[in-house]
Amino acid sequence: MFNWLTKRRRKKITEKPFPDSWEEIIQQNVAHYCMLEDDERSHLQDLIQVFISEKTWEGAGGLEITDEIQVTISAQACLLLLGLEHNFYQNVESIIVYPSTVISPQRQPGFFENTITPVEPEQPILGQAFRRGPVIIVWDAALRSGRHPEGGHNVIYHEFAHKLDMLDHTPDGTPPLHSSDEYRDWVQICSHEYLRLRHDIEKGKKSFLNNYAGTNEAEFFAVATEQFFDQPRVMLNHAPDLYRVLQEYYRQDPDERISRKNCGRQK
Ligand SMILES: [Zn+2]
Repeated sequence: MFNWLTKRRRKKITEKPFPDSWEEIIQQNVAHYCMLEDDERSHLQDLIQVFISEKTWEGAGGLEITDEIQVTISAQACLLLLGLEHNFYQNVESIIVYPSTVISPQRQPGFFENTITPVEPEQPILGQAFRRGPVIIVWDAALRSGRHPEGGHNVIYHEFAHKLDMLDHTPDGTPPLHSSDEYRDWVQICSHEYLRLRHDIEKGKKSFLNNYAGTNEAEFFAVATEQFFDQPRVMLNHAPDLYRVLQEYYRQDPDERISRKNCGRQK
């Protein structure tokens, strides 16, 4: 997956102590953090150190990149990796952060880039994931969603779920899975839930998932990931099979985490 030089470089990075100031930032800005077990926290801290160091960070629209921005975004991006075999989102070279809602991105996709979210002029965006290129994150939305999971929206989970989906080069709502049985299960359950959502949208019926999930299969996976981590109980109640396939993929159980350590969060 990666060579010994990379391994050695990463080991050196994670051998450095995790700064107390970074820990404070996570505690303040990432509500999910307080529910993690000690070994999960320590693993997440290693991931954050490597992720911050390996990615290129660019502030746009006059925003200056700070430790708070890097740590807050990295903590949530890396939370998705906690149970996965991964190579630190090798398909993400840079992260471009805007201060607030972007109306029309100044940066247009390059010739070899495909954007997963259609770039509609006049359409406000909170983030964007390019197939061969950067992830764009809007900082005020990132901060809000990290602190308030009860809202059920998380721009960082959303965009980085797209990047996981794109690891097999096809943004089709199915990231690389662990076995053929898992693929079979995934396709059957996600198709069922996706069609159910489309049906509800057509009938004007409110679903447990945000309607944006009905845009296409890729958005379905990204929105479902947001809810899986932010409001796992809601998903478990409405679509236990969908919860199960996401749990098997991410190898994490956010609902169990919430039951075990409430941290003052609403269930
Ligand atoms: Zn999306």
